Amino acid sequence: LNRRLAEFGTTIFAEMSALALSTGSINLGQGFPDTDGPEEIREAAVRALRDGRGNQYPPGPGVPELRTAIAEHQRRFHGLEYDPDTEVLVTAGATEAIAAALLALVEPGDEVIALEPYYDSYAASIAMAGGVRVPVTLRPHGPAFRLDLDELRDAVTDRTRLLLINTPHNPTGTVLTRAELAAIAELAVERDLLVVTDEVYEHLVFDGEHVPLASFPGMRERTVTISSAGKTFSFTGWKVGWVTASPELVATVRSAKQFLTYVSAGPFQYAVAEALRLPDAYFDGLRDDLRAKRDLLGEGLAAAGFTVHRPAGTYFVTTDIRPLGETDGFAFCRALPERCGVVAIPNAVFYDHRDEGAPFVRFAFCKRVDVLEEAVARLKSLA
Ligand code: PMP
Ligand code: GLN
Repeated sequence: LNRRLAEFGTTIFAEMSALALSTGSINLGQGFPDTDGPEEIREAAVRALRDGRGNQYPPGPGVPELRTAIAEHQRRFHGLEYDPDTEVLVTAGATEAIAAALLALVEPGDEVIALEPYYDSYAASIAMAGGVRVPVTLRPHGPAFRLDLDELRDAVTDRTRLLLINTPHNPTGTVLTRAELAAIAELAVERDLLVVTDEVYEHLVFDGEHVPLASFPGMRERTVTISSAGKTFSFTGWKVGWVTASPELVATVRSAKQFLTYVSAGPFQYAVAEALRLPDAYFDGLRDDLRAKRDLLGEGLAAAGFTVHRPAGTYFVTTDIRPLGETDGFAFCRALPERCGVVAIPNAVFYDHRDEGAPFVRFAFCKRVDVLEEAVARLKSLA
């Protein structure tokens, strides 16, 4: 492994999912639903395969049907206008969108400011681009983790190239407020920064609202917005993601994407185009189902003795293990399968300041109710 990637090794998700399998534990680690997305959308994928739509290389930017559906979705849910021909790019999941955006926009030595804890691929993608990551830490204030806007402002230097934002935020579940986003936007405009914003959990907001960063004054032309069908439609295995941005930024990201995967798999793109046009009831239903699961798992974890940082969005809940007499999330997560047959993720892997992240452990609640109930019963045996 070269020096840029040496620190990364195997992702924590692969490690913990393997541990879940080898110990027969309930996997509340890696974030994937245990129930697939809508039947009609699966049928749409089968139809595309059978009818020969997308079985050969699709167009580089994505199939026109999907780009149009993405543009319609941005208008329908966020009031944002994007030209499907020049301002939309389909990617192999949000992961490729993040990598392509950073590879295309960051020069070696450029600083990239990211919210800490950060999704693990951000650090690796910044490193692959030769950038320098500058973490700004979210800390617990009451039930939620919050961003310190002064710290964010202080982190900007002459070397800062871009802000990498994530809302709703994995792993804390924080949904940045309109006021926080307005302050981030003002800073970006004032310091003339690009912004890459990962909004893959845009439809999973239980308290408050999701406001896209691109909707603030001065942001439309400097923001690369990323989302994914994995989270919104419960098809994480399809790896269909997308970018919306100005024609210049989309062209720049496409330059990198064309040499990463060339194009994304074809038939799923047609199915996701149909998914994006599902009625509001689908999106509301997904959110309401996950809200109930958040409450179920959150109450269970509290009853088991954890401090629960109630997430306003995403399908993750971050807990503090100190009330259980534990301080090291890594050791706790490595021992948990043997102790009670449950797998979780130590948030410390998402920190440069590992000490800050040490006592926090993340549980995913995108699982069936009976699975969550069984997990809670097992976790209560810890006390
Ligand atoms: N960003 C965040 C914040 C995520 O949580 C995830 C996946 N869990 C991704 C990006 C990756 O999305 P995809 O599976 O579409 O590549
Ligand atoms: N994003 C998912 C999570 O946070 C996992 C995706 C992955 O394994 N890379 O759990």
